[in-house]
Amino acid sequence: MKACSSCLQSKPAALFPVKGLKCKACLSDYNRNYRAKNTDRLRELSKDYYEANKDAVIERSRKYYAKNKAEILKAQKASYDPEQAKAYRARVDDQIKDYRKAYWLSLTEEQKQQKRQRARDLKVTEEQSKKRRENRKRWIEKNRDARRLSISSYRASKAGSVAVWDKELTEFTFKEAYRLCSLRESMTGLKWHIDHFIPLRSRVACGLHVWSNFAVVPAEYNIRKSNKLMTENQKMGWL
Ligand SMILES: [Zn+2]
Repeated sequence: MKACSSCLQSKPAALFPVKGLKCKACLSDYNRNYRAKNTDRLRELSKDYYEANKDAVIERSRKYYAKNKAEILKAQKASYDPEQAKAYRARVDDQIKDYRKAYWLSLTEEQKQQKRQRARDLKVTEEQSKKRRENRKRWIEKNRDARRLSISSYRASKAGSVAVWDKELTEFTFKEAYRLCSLRESMTGLKWHIDHFIPLRSRVACGLHVWSNFAVVPAEYNIRKSNKLMTENQKMGWL
């Protein structure tokens, strides 16, 4: 047992720090009180310390962060307060604005002129952005067949219906069929699809993704048909 010099109570030694006469509870009260009374001075001191030992401080906190990343992130998440975050952002925004303003005022007239010119040069004109949109459209148009082909091949392979024995002929026929799709689209103004006569997935049959199972049909028809089987007559009608 030991008597505290502050609260004068007798307490077990474990409740005292290694050195000093105050018990832990009194010491922590004292420290809190001291920090509250000397905020400015302490801030000043820590700023001085930081300036004098910048590299070491940064290195130390970097190491600490690396070592305790998980806990730090967890604690941050737990203590996150949206209102506080909003206030913080507003405060920093103001600081940035002030900084930019000071920077601008520090420039010579010639430097300002250069910066203004650069901003004008970098600005995308209405004409330029129109051109970009057109280029993109053209690119999509040009690569449509390739895109469709890859999507369909993917779907077919996913359905487990690719027959290996005449893969090359199938690929060739498929490409041709897509060209035919595009051609018919440009001539008729309608959408055309490649159809599998015997659906890849249906209740009554499991067709194959092979050259002999393709037909180029109007999209509307294909959608209406869905997974139903075509009769021989219907089949001939679209070839
Ligand atoms: Zn005490």
